[in-house]
Amino acid sequence: MAIAIKGCIILEEDEKWGRMTYERVCDNCGYHFDKVHTGIVKSSLNMSYKCPKCGHNQRIEIIG
Ligand SMILES: [Zn+2]
Repeated sequence: MAIAIKGCIILEEDEKWGRMTYERVCDNCGYHFDKVHTGIVKSSLNMSYKCPKCGHNQRIEIIG
């Protein structure tokens, strides 16, 4: 099961196919991205992006 540690919210998870959809959320200002992302559930996912609202360099961490 995928668990969002920071920078995002897991919206849906398909355990059969190992896929998930998640939404990026800025921890600094609470900005929600309109775009929903699809990812593969694996042991861990680490990446970062720059928030378009506040410029915060937000890390995304998901563990599978
Ligand atoms: Zn922000």
